[in-house]
Amino acid sequence: MTLLWAESALLPGGWAENVRVEIDDAGRIAAVTPGAAPEGERRSILLPAPVNLHSHAFQRALAGLTEARGPDASDSFWTWRRLMYRFLDRLGPDEIEIIAAFVQMQMAEAGYAAVAEFHYIHNAQGGAPYDDRAELSARIAAAAARSGLGLTLLPVFYQYGGCDRRALAAGQDRFHTTPETFADLHAGAARALAALPADTRLGIAPHSLRAADPEGLAAVLPLAAEAPIHIHVAEQQAEVEELLAHRGARPVEWLLANAPVDARWCLIHATQMLPAETLALAASGAVAGLCPITESSLGDGIFDGTRFLGAGGRIGIGSDSNIRISLSEELRTLEYSQRLRDRGRAVLAAPGRSTGRRLWDEIAQGGAQAAGRASGAIAPGLWADLVALDGTSLDLAGLGGDTVLDSFAFQGDDRLVSDLWSAGRHLVHDGRHTAREPITAAYRRLVTRLRSTL
Ligand code: ZN
Repeated sequence: MTLLWAESALLPGGWAENVRVEIDDAGRIAAVTPGAAPEGERRSILLPAPVNLHSHAFQRALAGLTEARGPDASDSFWTWRRLMYRFLDRLGPDEIEIIAAFVQMQMAEAGYAAVAEFHYIHNAQGGAPYDDRAELSARIAAAAARSGLGLTLLPVFYQYGGCDRRALAAGQDRFHTTPETFADLHAGAARALAALPADTRLGIAPHSLRAADPEGLAAVLPLAAEAPIHIHVAEQQAEVEELLAHRGARPVEWLLANAPVDARWCLIHATQMLPAETLALAASGAVAGLCPITESSLGDGIFDGTRFLGAGGRIGIGSDSNIRISLSEELRTLEYSQRLRDRGRAVLAAPGRSTGRRLWDEIAQGGAQAAGRASGAIAPGLWADLVALDGTSLDLAGLGGDTVLDSFAFQGDDRLVSDLWSAGRHLVHDGRHTAREPITAAYRRLVTRLRSTL
C-alpha cells in the first residue's frame, strides 16, 4: 500500500484540498479522502494522468530530419511518408526496442501514464516475416518493460496499398498482413504481453480504409470483440477523394455506415469531415484521436473541435509521429488551432470550466476509453495513473483550481511535471524518469549512428 497526499487534487467532482490517495499493491486506487491530514508522500497538485492514445514509436528517431523541401515544387504529407519509409529500412528489432523505450520514457516525463502504440512494422527488411511473426510486437512490449509506461498494444492490419487493392509499394512490405497472418501475429502479441503488468491491453488497428478492404476489415474485427479498435481516418483530402471514387462515400461516412463503430473505437485524426459526419461521429460514442502537433507538422488541417465537443463527442490526444513529445503543447496547439479558425478565444472552454480544465477532463476520460484502460480519474477501483505538478514553480505559484491547468497548457510546459505514476508504478521523480540514464545512453548511440548514415 502506498500513501500519497496532495494539497490540491482534481477529483471527478472537481478540485478538492488536502487529499489522501491510497494505492494498493496491484496499482489500483484503493481510497480517496479529501480533507485529510498530511501523511505519506506529499505533493502539491495531483491530477489524473492521461493516456497518449496514438503513437508510432520508431518515428521519434526521424524527428527534425524532414524539414527541408524535396525536389518537388511543394512538400507534403506524401513526400514525408516516402522519407519515413526509407528511414525504416535501417531499423531492425534492437533499434525499434531502443527507440520505443526512449519515447515511452519521454512520454512519462511529459505526464502521460500510458501509450496506445499503433504498431505497424511487422516484417523484416524486404518483407519476409520474422521466425516469430510477432517479433517486433514483442520488442514494443520489451520497451514497455524497461520504461514502465502502461501499454495498449495495437498491432496493425495492413493489406493493400490503396482502395483499388493494389499491392503494397516498395517501402510498405514491412507492414503487410493478410487476415490469416494477422490472426497469427495477434496471438503472438498476446503471448508477448503476458509478461507485462495487469494494466496492459491488446487491441487491433486496421491501418486505414485505404489499407484494409471491407472483407479484410470484417475478418479481423472479431479479434477485438471487447478490446480497442483504432483506425486512421480522413487525415488527408486525397484520402477522402480516393474513398469517394472507390466506395462512393467519404471515409468517416463510409465507416459509420459499414462498421459497428461504438465506444470501443478510436478514429485517429478524423480531420476531413463535413458537419454531418462530425455530428454522427460524436453520436457514435467513439473517441476522436487528435494529434495536434503531428497534424500541424504534416499540414493535415484543423479538426472541428468546436462542433464535435459541442455535440458531446469524446476526444483524446496522441503524439503520433512523435516529432515532439509534449502534453502541454498538444493541448495548446489544439486550442490555438480552433482560435485561429474561429477568430475567438477560450473556444473549447465549457460553462464553469476553463479551457485547460475542459481539455484535461476530456483527454483524461477519452484517452482511457480509447486505450481500454480503467483510468482517467482519481477514483477508487481505477488504475493509479497520476501526475503531480510542481506547485512551487513560478508558473504555478499562487494559483489554484482551473488556472493551474491553464497555466500548464498556455504559459508553462512539461517541466512542471514533477512525478508520474502508471498503475501505481512511480516512474518519474523530480521530473526525471528513474531509468533515464541507461535508456537515453542507448538512444544516443543509436541515433548518432543512424543520422551519420543518412
Ligand atoms: Zn498515425
